[in-house]
Amino acid sequence: MRVGAAIVPVYIGDETPGLRAPGAASQWWLHHSLTQLSSDLEARGARLVLRRGNATRVLLELVRETGAAQVIWNTIFDPGYLAADAHLAEALNQSGVSPRRFNGGHLVVPGTVRTKTGGAYGVFTPFWRTARDQVATGDALAAPVHIPSPALSPGSDHLEDWHLLPRKPDWAQGFAVWQPGEGGAREALQTFVDKALHRYDGDRDRPDRPGTSRLSPHIHFGEISVRAIWRAGQFAAHQGLASDHQVEKLQAELGWREFNAGIALAQHEAGRDLARENYDPRFDRFPWREDPAGLIAWQRGQTGYPIVDAGMRQLWATGWMHNRVRMIVASFLTKHLMIDWRLGEAWFWDTLVDADHASNAGNWQWVAGSGADASPYFRIFNPTLQGQKFDPDGAYVRTWVPELRCLPTKLIHTPWLVANDQNPGIGVKTGQTFHRSAAKCWHM
Ligand code: FAD
Repeated sequence: MRVGAAIVPVYIGDETPGLRAPGAASQWWLHHSLTQLSSDLEARGARLVLRRGNATRVLLELVRETGAAQVIWNTIFDPGYLAADAHLAEALNQSGVSPRRFNGGHLVVPGTVRTKTGGAYGVFTPFWRTARDQVATGDALAAPVHIPSPALSPGSDHLEDWHLLPRKPDWAQGFAVWQPGEGGAREALQTFVDKALHRYDGDRDRPDRPGTSRLSPHIHFGEISVRAIWRAGQFAAHQGLASDHQVEKLQAELGWREFNAGIALAQHEAGRDLARENYDPRFDRFPWREDPAGLIAWQRGQTGYPIVDAGMRQLWATGWMHNRVRMIVASFLTKHLMIDWRLGEAWFWDTLVDADHASNAGNWQWVAGSGADASPYFRIFNPTLQGQKFDPDGAYVRTWVPELRCLPTKLIHTPWLVANDQNPGIGVKTGQTFHRSAAKCWHM
């Protein structure tokens, strides 16, 4: 949008009590995303102001300091933020400042896709049939070359003082695979469109291949708009770079994000939190097992099931896990170990760089069976068969579970079938890393 006046870009670390604090991996991303945003803005003549505290109080202070006539922001549809949003709009109105809110984060405004009777959809397919026709597909505006700034910029916190990065130990070294910021997001989209979109429908289930976009953290942090991704897909189909079918598959995945946002919002309006309460209340009496040792083994990737351990170690090392493997590890936690999905959701919240209230809770509940349009309680992902089907050569397991790397492919997903006494050189001890990468593999 064009305002034609000086602009003060602001990021507020909202510390309002009751808001769920971002997890450690999200904080890592936030640090780098803000660093990048700040330098992108500087290149256009503007200075990013960082402040912490209650968002309404901080913004009212800034309005007083700068004499701002308008405050413009994108709504975050997470339950806690919605209440803060409404409060902020009211406070600004009362101070004679015009609040202008936009939906930059979603293809459709969450809560606006309704059934014929006016309710929220609880099943994905009819939701998506209706929602996809409502997607606003207008072109995103290019970033302005120059941003007019006030003569005197308001004071700002130093990002380093927010202590968002891990120090001792620095567990985020493996996160170097990411490039937070708009530039990184654009590059990831381009790579995906050029190299993977044309066979997305098959490869998106293969954790051993670069078959998905890895855009989720960029989307979550607002570094790229889902509408830009939608447009890129349409453009690729138009150019003959990918078939309509492949592009529709990508759009449907983006649709799941919209669906989960709608479910989370409907729950919120009913006074329930999707990350805390079962969507299906019949699960309220489900006898989850107390199993702290099982939970720790799962978190550390030491369950002994290769594909589960590979996923959990990929998550710890990089802050991200492939979608197919997320489903497998979530099923393993809730249906093999029978541990409450909330404990898995909380671990993902802390360790994922794309941790997102609605998508995380919605997917956890979907796998556990308590969610909307959920996988039924009797559908259990068999970790061995899933591994054999989606990581057929074992490349994914070999990458993340190095103690298994010498196993022949036929045994890579069933290491318990290896008789260690007959094959002492293999040294399979599931759940432990021997760091044998330099060692020779024995032939069976
Ligand atoms: P792509 O396949 O390239 O998909 C493109 C985009 O579509 C994704 O970036 C994402 O925005 C959206 N998308 C794809 N699949 C889903 C889905 N099932 N649900 C919602 N959106 C989807 N996604 C998150 O963004 N944040 C989370 O916290 C999160 N937690 C999850 C927890 C569990 C237990 C499971 C099973 C899935 C979770 N997902 C979450 C969904 C999905 O795993 C990720 O969105 C996906 O793996 C991101 O990788 P990508 O960007 O390469 O996906």
